[in-house]
Amino acid sequence: MSEELLFYEDAYLKEFDAVVVDVLQKGEKRYVVLNKTAFYPEGGGQTGDSGWLYFGNGAELKVEYTRKKEDRVLHEISGKGEIPKAGERVRGVIDWDRRFDHMQQHSGEHIVSGMICRKFSCDNVGFHMGADAVTIDFNAEISFEELQEIETEANRYISEDHPFISMWPSPEELKKLDYRSKKELSGEVRIACFPGADMCACCGTHVSGSAQVGMVKFASAEKFHDGTRIEVRFGKRAFDHLAMNYAQNKAIGVLLSAKEDKTYDYVKKQAEELAETRYRLGQMEEKMIGVIAAEYKEKKDTLIIVPPNSPEYVRKLAGAVHEQNGCLAAVFAGEARSYKYAVAGPESSVPDLNRSMTADLNGRGGGRGGFAQGSVASTEEDIRRFWRDHIREDQ
Ligand SMILES: [Zn+2]
Repeated sequence: MSEELLFYEDAYLKEFDAVVVDVLQKGEKRYVVLNKTAFYPEGGGQTGDSGWLYFGNGAELKVEYTRKKEDRVLHEISGKGEIPKAGERVRGVIDWDRRFDHMQQHSGEHIVSGMICRKFSCDNVGFHMGADAVTIDFNAEISFEELQEIETEANRYISEDHPFISMWPSPEELKKLDYRSKKELSGEVRIACFPGADMCACCGTHVSGSAQVGMVKFASAEKFHDGTRIEVRFGKRAFDHLAMNYAQNKAIGVLLSAKEDKTYDYVKKQAEELAETRYRLGQMEEKMIGVIAAEYKEKKDTLIIVPPNSPEYVRKLAGAVHEQNGCLAAVFAGEARSYKYAVAGPESSVPDLNRSMTADLNGRGGGRGGFAQGSVASTEEDIRRFWRDHIREDQ
């Protein structure tokens, strides 16, 4: 980097004074380059910083994002303020809440990665800081159950407040060090170390001690390529997620009059009862369909309109009535201008009837042979009128 990177000296620097070196316009976007910066440009899995730039003349610009390009840190700016010029003095203020969250996620990622790589003899092959959870990829099969031990161990390590150590070893010293992400790196290599948990080549910003990571909570472990993708949250993100889950569980507990550690048992029991009730209801419905259909024995073409019901009920009732009357049986279930229907009858008349019905009653549906089903956007009155006009009926 040509500019001074202040976040390496002090990752907790929130404000700084600098001088504008260059202003670039690329398409719609404008970028400011400074002689020094505390804004972290995205890298090593860590998201770039945002914040504000204040100028002597009172102008204020929002820094939307920070990234590296051709060895320079580009501060992407927005705002109506005048475009700054090279040589202008500026005060930079970073969005600290956002940055500290990134530091919690990044340091946490190092601690659990160090522990996981050691335990499962694997490598961290991917790290992504999402807006919600953080994902880390490992080239080993790791189950969610196996992660529980790591979670306990990492939370203990975090609470013990081990100091974070940043090192810039010489090439000779570097060769002797045992650290993660050991590849042929050109130029100076920065080593980020949480003693006893992790040592890794890294360009990101970290908390000063492990206690500032706050806590770790794993969310999932899924198979990914030949390894595992782990979803995890650290610090405030972990707390907020757990608080949301707690609120949900508490509300379920109130609803079921169940203690918070018994909600699963209650819900499981209710699900079983629901399945049994549905089964019994299905059986009763079958019987009822038989009883209703028997009323139409010997009658001719039949139209039945009932309150809203499932397509399955409508289909079964139409079939059962047709079996009894041997003629056309049309069942409509619904209300207002929305009805589901099924028609069962002789193969010679059902397809034609269905065609004119969907056309006249603003419907859609299809069928095969002596059966058709679908829905219409018409009123009960429209349906009855259609039936009178199209069917020679005696009811
Ligand atoms: Zn890192």
